[in-house]
Order: sequence, then C-alpha cells, then structure tokens
Amino acid sequence: MATPIIVARDLAKDYVMGGHVVHALRGVSATIDEGDFVAVMGPSGSGKSTFMNLVGCLDRPTGGSYVLAGEEVAKLNGDQLAALRNRRIGFVFQSFHLLPRADALSNVELPMVYGGIARRQRHEKAMKALTRVGLADRYHHRPNQLSGGQQQRVAIARALVNDPSLILADEPTGALDSRTSLEIMALFQELNRGGMSVVMVTHEPDVAQFARRVLRFRDGRLIEDHRQTPADAAQMLAREPAEQEAA
Ligand code: ADP
Repeated sequence: MATPIIVARDLAKDYVMGGHVVHALRGVSATIDEGDFVAVMGPSGSGKSTFMNLVGCLDRPTGGSYVLAGEEVAKLNGDQLAALRNRRIGFVFQSFHLLPRADALSNVELPMVYGGIARRQRHEKAMKALTRVGLADRYHHRPNQLSGGQQQRVAIARALVNDPSLILADEPTGALDSRTSLEIMALFQELNRGGMSVVMVTHEPDVAQFARRVLRFRDGRLIEDHRQTPADAAQMLAREPAEQEAA
C-alpha cells in the first residue's frame, strides 16, 4: 500500500493586513503519497504559494493539520520545524537561487555546511548529486558560466544532496525556454521514476502534463484533483525541433 508523505486536513491560512483578514487558504485537504508527481495550478492569488509554504514547513497554518512523513507539524517548535524541513525537503525555485561567486560544487555542498558533515563526505555527496543531474563535468563552473538549464540542474542537485523525501519546485521552468523546460521536466520525471516525490507549482499546461496528478486551486480552495497519464518528456525531446514547433 502507498505511504502518504503529505497529509493535509482542512488546512487554512489567514493573513491580517491593514486590519483586514485575507483568507489565503480556506480549508484544503489533500493526501499525497510517496512517489507521486503533482502539479499545483491555479490563477494568481488562488493560494498556491501559501499551500507550498505550509507544505514546505516554511510557515504554519492558522487552521487544520498537516502531517509530513508521519510528523504532525503543528506540534513542532521552530528548530524542530527547520530540522524536519532540512531532512525531508529539497527546494527548487524559478530563478535558481544559486550563489553567484561559488562554483557548482560549492553551491550543491551548501545545504550540508551546517549539517556537521565532514568536508570530504560533503564533496563526495555533492559530486554524486551533480552526476545525477548530468553535470559532473561542470562542477568547477560558476553560475554565470552555465546556461539557464544547467543552473537549474545545479539547483536540483542542491535540492537532492541531503537525500530528501520530497522535492518542492516553484515554477521550475518559468525562466527557461521551451526546449530547456522539456529537458528539466525529463529530469524531474527520471527522479520521480526513481521514487522521488515531487510537488511543483506551474502556470503552464505544457509543463503540468508531465505530472501524474494535477491539483487546481481557486480562491483559497482546492477545486480539482485529477490523475493523468504523464507525457513522456524524453520522447518529446527526441522528436525533431520542427515537429515540436508544429505540435
Ligand atoms: P498564488 O501563489 O496562487 O498567487 P498566494 O498564496 O500568494 O497565491 O496568495 C493567496 C492570497 O493571499 C492572495 O490574496 C494574496 O494577496 C494573499 N497573501 C499571500 N501572502 C500574503 C501575506 N504575506 N500577507 C497578506 N496577504 C497575503
């Protein structure tokens, strides 16, 4: 039987702004199993970021409950929350968030610097993660010596380096052209086929089609939850560019 990695029950988040209450999330329930690949969609302001912040243990709900990998998040203090986040979750962002003066290897090592891991082991784990994303030969390059797609691969290697249970990606292809987006989706699919759970916000239906499941938000509510047969990014990449233009 599938093991849930995320169990959200009636999650609510209110923000108070200028004396007004904004109901960013109005009771969202969803269970995401280990090994799933979920696209989170919906118009701007629908609550996607708020949901991702809660799922990523970056914020606490004002109502409802959230269990991540068997741990009830509401019961944890700030330090415990940070520890759970570091152990369980790898984050990938639209604009990569790499340190500009550090090479790829140092960027990937970063999440381990505060983890008390010996330098040599850090190096080995970072090289392994860079190899996994196909960038072992670029370990000494700085971000400005890499293409956008390569920078995102470095960021994905950094997300993988602590062996997380879950990757949370916030519009990971938002800054990339369509062919590079396909390559990045092929990589996410490969990681997912290897067992990694992925939850990804995207505005682009072309990108969402690579996920196994789509959650759609509107006005702070989950309005749609459907399973789909994922498109095969590798197959689409193999097609002629002219064919892709026509598709
Ligand atoms: P999305 O990611 O789908 O664009 P958000 O989760 O960012 O939506 O926002 C949902 C609602 O909550 C919006 O109305 C937004 O203005 C509001 N909101 C988000 N963050 C804050 C905040 N820190 N303070 C006040 N209101 C916020």
